[in-house]
Parts: sequence; structure tokens; C-alpha cells
Amino acid sequence: MVNPDKPITVKSPAEIEIMQHANSIVAGVLSLLQKQIVPGLTTLQMDTWAETYCRDHGAEPAFKGYHGFPGSLCISINEQVVHGIPSTKVKVRNGDIVSVDFGTKYKGFYGDSAVTIPVGNISKENQLLLQVTREALERGIDQVQIGKRISDVSAAVQKHVEAHGFSVVRQFVGHGIGTSLHEGPEVPNYVQKKGSPRIVEGMAIAIEPMVNAGTHKVKILKDGWTVITADRMASAHFEHSVAATTDGPLVMSRRAEEV
Ligand code: MG
Ligand code: MG
Repeated sequence: MVNPDKPITVKSPAEIEIMQHANSIVAGVLSLLQKQIVPGLTTLQMDTWAETYCRDHGAEPAFKGYHGFPGSLCISINEQVVHGIPSTKVKVRNGDIVSVDFGTKYKGFYGDSAVTIPVGNISKENQLLLQVTREALERGIDQVQIGKRISDVSAAVQKHVEAHGFSVVRQFVGHGIGTSLHEGPEVPNYVQKKGSPRIVEGMAIAIEPMVNAGTHKVKILKDGWTVITADRMASAHFEHSVAATTDGPLVMSRRAEEV
């Protein structure tokens, strides 16, 4: 989803402050969904809550209408990886893992973050999948240091995931973020055999490991959006928008309940 025409841009401290606000609204939405999710809830109801919260806080939902996406929220359940479409026909059930991905636009800048939410009692395997994906994101965030390379982020994520026998999706990657939702650089969750940009002060990136319990291969459903695992095994997705500062990584989308 990275637009190759969009270069890497660096943000001023004032711009990062605006981005922090955009991302705090994303964080507010994800916290709300985590608190209110219950078996029987439709994914369209979740989408409505997200859009209402976003607009009530003075931002626009970034995904709505993006390349024609119909929802404000991407909701991807179990074997769905990313880009699931909210629907009145889909209800979350006890034992599901529900990936919710939300973006905002505020004063010309974007926020983007995702979390996978367990509903009721989930399997031990899925508990581990969520834990490892969350930890992989944090390992990646730790690498957002001036002078390191994007490939250091990729390597940290990939190493942690594969050490637990899971796989990272190749077909979709993280991205730079700023006045565009998706801009340079690409932030893959695996190491590529090519040069990788240096991390500089003011660079802002969305790191988003998509981690599959089985194969890394994915397919797209006939709706043209929903990405699923090729083997129908479970997938998890956690994402934060992070700025590189002289004080280290600044996680702009951190939620209040996160440690
Ligand atoms: Mg996202
Ligand atoms: Mg993203």
C-alpha cells in the first residue's frame, strides 16, 4: 500500500505534535473497541462507533473511501489478515481473534494503528500468536533509532516471529506516514536483499507486523479487499505509528492501557 510516488519526508517537532494528536484519536478508538467488544456484536456496529468517536474528536476517518474502501475500520477475524470490510452480517463470536485497524486525518496529518482483540476465551495457540505479534512490534519499535536502518526494524520483527515458529506476511508491509497515509519508506516485516533507508530525525513510520500461525502466503477474497491466509490458519496484526527523535522512538499511537 506504499505509494512509490511519495518520497520519504521528515517532520518538524510541530508536525510531530499534530501527528501525536491524530494518533491519540486512533488510540482512543482502539481502546474503546477493546473495552466494548462482546460476542454477538456486528462488525458494522464497531465501524459506527469508530467513525462517531473519530468525528466527535475533530478528525476524519482516513480509510473511508480510500481507493474505494467502504468502511472506516478494517475488521479482520481469525484467518483474515487485514482489510476486512465491516458488515451487518458478520458477528464476532466467543473464541475469535479480531484485528481492528483504524486511521485518522487531523489538520492534514494521518494517524494509523491496529490491535488484535481476543473475544471471550481464545485458544492457547491464539494467545501465543497475539503475544508474539505484540512483542515483535515492540522489538521493531526499539530499533527506531537515528542512524539505524529500516532493515533493522524488519530484522527484529522477523527474528522474534520466526523464533516462535510463526511466519510474517510478505505481500503487505508497513510504511512511512505523514501528510499521506502511505508514503515512503516501505517497512517490511522481513529482511529484503536490497539497500534500506537510514533512519533520520523526524522520520515517521507505521510498523505493522502481520503474523500468521502457518504459511506466510495470503489470498484476497472476491470482495477485492479481505486478505486471508492461504492455509486458513489464524493471523494477528498489531501496528503503531512511530517517530524517530533524538530521545529515541516516540510511539505516537500508544494507548493508555498499554504498559
Ligand atoms: Mg493500519
Ligand atoms: Mg498502516
